[in-house]
Amino acid sequence: MAFRQRFVTSYLDPLAVETEFKSYPGKYPGLCTLEELPLATHGYTGVHTPAHGPRKMYLLRISSSNGPATKPAVLLMRSPHAREWINGIAVVEAALEFLENYRADDPDPLVQQIVTTLDSAEILIVPEGNPDGALYSFFDPGQLMWRKNLRPPPSGGSCAGVDCNRNFSRYFGEAGSSSVQCSDVYHGPQAFSEPESANIANLVNGRRNIIFAIDSHSYGQAIYRPNPNGGTYISSLPVPLADHAIYTRLEQLMNERIQSVNGAVYSTGSTSNHAGTSDEYLFFEQNVFGFDLECGQDFQPPVEDALTASLEVAAATRALAWCASGHTDVNIQSLLDRRMALDARETISARPARKSWTPIELPPERWRRFICTCRPPGGRNVISYASDLQERAFDIASDDLIGPELELILSAEELVSLLREGAHIEVFKDAYAEK
Ligand SMILES: [Zn+2]
Repeated sequence: MAFRQRFVTSYLDPLAVETEFKSYPGKYPGLCTLEELPLATHGYTGVHTPAHGPRKMYLLRISSSNGPATKPAVLLMRSPHAREWINGIAVVEAALEFLENYRADDPDPLVQQIVTTLDSAEILIVPEGNPDGALYSFFDPGQLMWRKNLRPPPSGGSCAGVDCNRNFSRYFGEAGSSSVQCSDVYHGPQAFSEPESANIANLVNGRRNIIFAIDSHSYGQAIYRPNPNGGTYISSLPVPLADHAIYTRLEQLMNERIQSVNGAVYSTGSTSNHAGTSDEYLFFEQNVFGFDLECGQDFQPPVEDALTASLEVAAATRALAWCASGHTDVNIQSLLDRRMALDARETISARPARKSWTPIELPPERWRRFICTCRPPGGRNVISYASDLQERAFDIASDDLIGPELELILSAEELVSLLREGAHIEVFKDAYAEK
């Protein structure tokens, strides 16, 4: 027999992903368990009424009963950005590649790697990082490009939602995030104000065997993480050179497997452009080597492209899992020791935020998004212009500001304001095109 893969053939709605994961403990007894994460979400209140109310997040643990009781773990998370649909498929593909290929009597080398991996490491998967927002993007008309969770608007306010990947405690509230509630990168009232990010922090606090993590986003075919040079906005971060070497090696291992899918090699870069992200929290606060993986080339590409990207995410996860199982030159015991040496943290509890809220029909200019390239007005420097746009809470898609132009995700209103100030804008995608 051969290595089994390509388990998914179409986009899956968030409820289908949840149902799929709930079926695994019954289908693969002895190989996985599923648990609920404690904090429920604010609650989905959109048009798909069967899904109404606060939702739960889940954790699937995959490992065999062989080997030591405590095994090093790799955490894979479906990003909290609702519109990044590829990742709902990617978590299913990744889970099934482990579950379906644990066959000790099959001599196929990739199958044998899975057996060895699950005998000496564990895979943890959070299949949905933003249950409310994902439902909203999938089911509600005009909300394909919704990114945030569904925190109700404050009294007197009209904008819902927090960007959960700006809500982590490291550098909370600094550059690359916004205090404007209507912004797509609104960081929330305080660090871990959101159940989605607090669940992740509690999970990583409690499971000290986690050494590697992928927060699986889209898009960009890129692997981001903290690095010794810091980023464009958050000035130099102290990633020690020895850790930089480990990160570089992990990127290499991931890219070898990613390339084997369809020839693509993902670029690498710093995430230190955006304050309050998961991977910087994981690395600086938790000694976990965390990545922001940006798979694919669009938020909701044609399904064939989404499936290829999902195979790349699964391949990258297998690479880290193989490494965690101790079969590369990375010293896993020393990474485990560093995790175990951390002091215990207080569990973050739920904060009361829920009140009834009905999403209202917004005029098109409020939800329509244009993906554009932008040259700064009057020959201004790209980096200083980008920094200016960050201050003004624009959604900047480019992470490395090397070329003469920026990639931006703009509302109609923002597009007009930039044109008025003389920026050269080229729209290459109207992101609201119903599929
Ligand atoms: Zn994202």
